[in-house]
Amino acid sequence: MKRIAVIGSTGSIGRNTLDVIRQFPDKFRVAALCAHSNVELLSAQAREFKPELVCLTGQAKTNFHKPGKKAKFFRGFLGLEEMLEDRRIDMVVMAIGGSSALLPLWKAIELKKEIATANKEALVMAGGLISRLAAEKQVKIIPIDSEQSAIWQCLEKEDPAKLEKIYLTASGGPFRLYSKAQLENITLKDALMHPRWKMGKKITVDSATLMNKGLEVLEAMCLFKVSAGDIKVVIHPESIIHSMVEFVDGVVMAQLSQTDMRIPIRYAMSYPQRLKGKARKLNFFQIKSLNFAKPDFEKFPCLALAFSAARDGGTMPAVMNAANEVSVAAFMEGKLGFISIAEIIGKVMRRHRSLKDPTLNDVLDADSWARIEALSLIGE
Ligand code: MG
Repeated sequence: MKRIAVIGSTGSIGRNTLDVIRQFPDKFRVAALCAHSNVELLSAQAREFKPELVCLTGQAKTNFHKPGKKAKFFRGFLGLEEMLEDRRIDMVVMAIGGSSALLPLWKAIELKKEIATANKEALVMAGGLISRLAAEKQVKIIPIDSEQSAIWQCLEKEDPAKLEKIYLTASGGPFRLYSKAQLENITLKDALMHPRWKMGKKITVDSATLMNKGLEVLEAMCLFKVSAGDIKVVIHPESIIHSMVEFVDGVVMAQLSQTDMRIPIRYAMSYPQRLKGKARKLNFFQIKSLNFAKPDFEKFPCLALAFSAARDGGTMPAVMNAANEVSVAAFMEGKLGFISIAEIIGKVMRRHRSLKDPTLNDVLDADSWARIEALSLIGE
């Protein structure tokens, strides 16, 4: 029985994680739940799964009612870090989006918990530091993100030295076929209509700008110890192939499945075993054909910015990520146009002098600096 802490239990990945746990009550048990502000759902989840530990990181309008007298309740991000120390937690499923995952993830690795992460921002900001810490603590970071899970599975029984290239597939988002002029008038409602995946709002906007794919390039660099030059982004609108790897002998391995996040979540939790679960299967006779195209870096400059940050390294990825978070939030509030998201990120990056081999504090400083820069540029 694996005892799981679901961090971000009320979000899209969190709810899917609980769904997987619900299907395998003899394999997994919820030891801890953590949500940011959705108290109603957190309370309902706590009543159903009866965890020993519950945490609320943000402010909530209503009070949280403990499911039983025994459950321990924690508040805030410091409370979350304290909660992770509990020995009844075997695995931490990091299902919160954004940079706020960085410190709890760091803490979970320090505590040598098993990690399954859907969060990309932490790996983007501090990829080098996180892989070093994970190696030192002998902690495996198992990806939940569908593309990274695909690469993980393709590389599983292989010699990493024989890997030549990663083909990171991308659906292309809702604006794949838009002209540059059409991109200028995009509204939030348009941006939230993802053709393949149902996800949280921020990641859906990131998918529309292709920044999501850019973040995944940096995520893959951290998880698989490759450089930006080893990764090729391929537009694959059907999202059936979740990514591919090419080896030195010219062989390409791919991982295919339906677009259902419960598949990579289940695998991350049961790794190295495969569990038989409820999942729609692929029907190749219905699919008939799969398509591939090159990404358009000019129409989607966020992807180019991410590759540039990946090549710069140091604190630049953290700066890019912070500027993106601020710009996407401003876009969602109607304060910034869709195409200005990339303009703001580019400007902030050009103002930044990247620090080589940063410490965790350098990364956090760069993150705060970039937020202030982005906010002031948006204010102008
Ligand atoms: Mg993905």
